[in-house]
Amino acid sequence: MTATWTSGRPDGAGSSTGIRLTAPPPGWAIEADVVVVGSGVAGLTVALRCAASGAKVTVVTKAHLDDGSTRWAQGGIAAALGEGDSPDEHLEDTLVAGAGLCDEPAVRTLVTEGPDAVRRLMATGAHFDTDAGSGELLLTREGGHRRRRITHAGGDATGAEVSRALIAAVRDAGIEFVENALVLDLLTDAEGRTAGVTLHVMGAGARDGVGAVRAPAVVLATGGMGQVFSATTNPAVSTGDGVALALRAGAEVSDLEFVQFHPTVLWLGPDAEGQQPLVSEAVRGEGAHLVDAEGTRFMVGQHELAELAPRDIVAKGIMRRMQETGAEHMFLDARHFGAAMWEQRFPTILAACRAHGIDPVTQPIPVAPAAHYASGGVRTDLHGRSTVPGLYACGEVACTGVHGANRLASNSLLEGLVFAERIAADIAAHPAEAGEPVVPGPSGGVHGYPLLASEARYEVQRIMTAGAGVLRSAESLAVAAGALERLQTAAVEAYDRDGKTAEPCVETWEATNLSLVARVLVAAARRREETRGCHWRQDRPERDDDRWRRHLVVRLTPHRTLDVRTTQGPDFEGTRPPRIGDDGAAAPHPAPGSAVAQAPSPAPAQAPDRPQAAPKEFS
Ligand SMILES: Cc1cc2nc3c(=O)[nH]c(=O)nc-3n(C[C@H](O)[C@H](O)[C@H](O)COP(=O)(O)OP(=O)(O)OC[C@H]3O[C@@H](n4cnc5c(N)ncnc54)[C@H](O)[C@@H]3O)c2cc1C
Repeated sequence: MTATWTSGRPDGAGSSTGIRLTAPPPGWAIEADVVVVGSGVAGLTVALRCAASGAKVTVVTKAHLDDGSTRWAQGGIAAALGEGDSPDEHLEDTLVAGAGLCDEPAVRTLVTEGPDAVRRLMATGAHFDTDAGSGELLLTREGGHRRRRITHAGGDATGAEVSRALIAAVRDAGIEFVENALVLDLLTDAEGRTAGVTLHVMGAGARDGVGAVRAPAVVLATGGMGQVFSATTNPAVSTGDGVALALRAGAEVSDLEFVQFHPTVLWLGPDAEGQQPLVSEAVRGEGAHLVDAEGTRFMVGQHELAELAPRDIVAKGIMRRMQETGAEHMFLDARHFGAAMWEQRFPTILAACRAHGIDPVTQPIPVAPAAHYASGGVRTDLHGRSTVPGLYACGEVACTGVHGANRLASNSLLEGLVFAERIAADIAAHPAEAGEPVVPGPSGGVHGYPLLASEARYEVQRIMTAGAGVLRSAESLAVAAGALERLQTAAVEAYDRDGKTAEPCVETWEATNLSLVARVLVAAARRREETRGCHWRQDRPERDDDRWRRHLVVRLTPHRTLDVRTTQGPDFEGTRPPRIGDDGAAAPHPAPGSAVAQAPSPAPAQAPDRPQAAPKEFS
């Protein structure tokens, strides 16, 4: 099919912010009922469930089908499947970890629908570890869980098994997928409703270069944004593309300041960059101890669960001890497991450690925290719907309200499963026709988003690691905000002056997306003047429920500035604004130069943020 487009209104109206990544115009187009962006647990589960209800689904994915965080998941999937366990207990542990910011209806949905979602995953073909004698599922414990409720596969290779089973099922179901396809932006019709996506495909014959998939429903399942920091457990594809796309499409994102730093990532030296090997919490669940260079168990006495306290507590415990002793890392000691247990229960971790010259059977493992999980993302309701009609978000890219200020270990694969099924049900219940996409212009419309040079990726990572990592302060965040702003301003000025921008390609699109999500993350972290969950402000070390038991919600304005607002309280579902396109119009954007459009800037020190206007049900 040749791509034809309705020309956009010159002011970009009807197409949300009107901002798009600079890219050549689409040269080809295909059609689907549903386009799923990403092929991790979330994307593939949505695809399978949508296809089962008769929809024509196209999965597009940036690299190969199994590239993404899902494949790397080690510990397992949390669900109340064990004898004596209950969804209520799982709910309680999740709420505690979320530090007062979980949306309880979302958590209840997760924990009550979770066990059956895991059983359906098994029915799809995933094999979990069972007791050789009884055939019962083997369950382990991780931080913050008061019970053994984590199912696992291949010892510590849960994600690889989930990924294998889902990919096999997608192939068996004959679902169309396009690999090496980087999705750029959302297409919307004149009413602002989803009409598909633009994407860039590498080396696929007739579908080479920039094209479009036209569809009335788009499901973002693009995973996390760990690559915004120098050292992360996330793979190279986790560049926050889905959040950046959603922002440009006018959607709300929330809770981006809550980045979970995994406490026990194999320490590979002070200058280690990119994806780092994880040493799963399950290793502590099976009895490994965190010790300093003297062999002292420093987590004992800090929390009743000691090494198995929620991740933010353990990460902070490690960072504190590192500061006290001047050490660059701590140690995880599991020598007492012995060789047989290491080989049987944690073969992947054992191999990764040995590949880097550490033998956990005879040596304590050097560990330090690294960026691991984005608790925030594209703000959705209980059906995975974003604030843009027809645009859904699922998995790590979404902010369903389940994780609050800190994700409970092994709740993320579960979230992907549960909400994927809900999204598929919602799409089946509301069949729609794709409208005519409105494309403002080949170079990105009136308010184009100029591209950053590919090297900017590393600059963003350095800025974020220095200023917005595990330890943050007003000062460090201000420095980070200034540096990010300068990076952006240089690109914008060149673009606005003479239309010049970096060459459109995967590296520059990714760098540009990273810089946008970094700006949002820093703006939110500056605004949240307290310490809560995985957001640790050294200058505001206390949790402040009076001022901050609320969410920060961010939108991009058509003027490329950020509109940062707060919800009225912890309840997510009850405080949602109308969706863009509901009531016939998008919520008004602030005028350029207004107080809101000037964000990011810190809130006045004394005055709490003003709550949003009267809540309206987000149905
Ligand atoms: C090392 C590690 C261990 C973990 N262990 C656990 C665990 O034990 N239990 C648990 O519950 N969670 C764990 N997690 C977290 C969990 O793995 C992730 O949150 C989850 O897999 C995310 O699934 P997803 O489908 O949302 O995204 P992903 O699996 O990350 O998939 C994202 C997909 O989107 C694609 N994509 C991205 N951008 C674009 C674009 N612009 N265009 C097209 N495609 C795009 C990617 O290529 C990929 O296919 C772990 C994470 C890591 C990194």
